Amino acid sequence: MGKARYTMYARRRLGLFASVFSGVLIVSLFILTSWYRGGYAGPGPVCAFTEGAVVVGFYLGPNPNGWIFEKVNYAPKSVWWPRMSPGPAFLAIVPLWMPFLLSVMTSAVLWRRYYAIPPGLCRQCRYNLTGNVSGVCPECGEKVQRR
Ligand SMILES: [Zn+2]
Repeated sequence: MGKARYTMYARRRLGLFASVFSGVLIVSLFILTSWYRGGYAGPGPVCAFTEGAVVVGFYLGPNPNGWIFEKVNYAPKSVWWPRMSPGPAFLAIVPLWMPFLLSVMTSAVLWRRYYAIPPGLCRQCRYNLTGNVSGVCPECGEKVQRR
């Protein structure tokens, strides 16, 4: 295995790990926000997690909240659909299943790419077909795919 190929695999493994890790992190935040909310809520940029959603945007109104970390003191209700916040702010409330779905799709793509069969190997049994002229895998009889 050449150095370039090794580096490529290492990078793909890192990407796959990062994607799966972010998915796990999002699920953890979803569960955690049933009891706690936290983040930064102005003045200026806002990024906070609450009720199974992430709130992002800008808060320009009076009485900004700053850094918050508090117990949600009412029955947990998750946010399921995105909406814009009313009031003197530009806030988008994005339910966490949306970035979770994104991370699942990214993970699936990266997973497929990471475990893809390298060129030059039989697609059926991974036998090395370098220099094959018969057009058929000598190991399992699979037709050789020319790429
Ligand atoms: Zn084969």
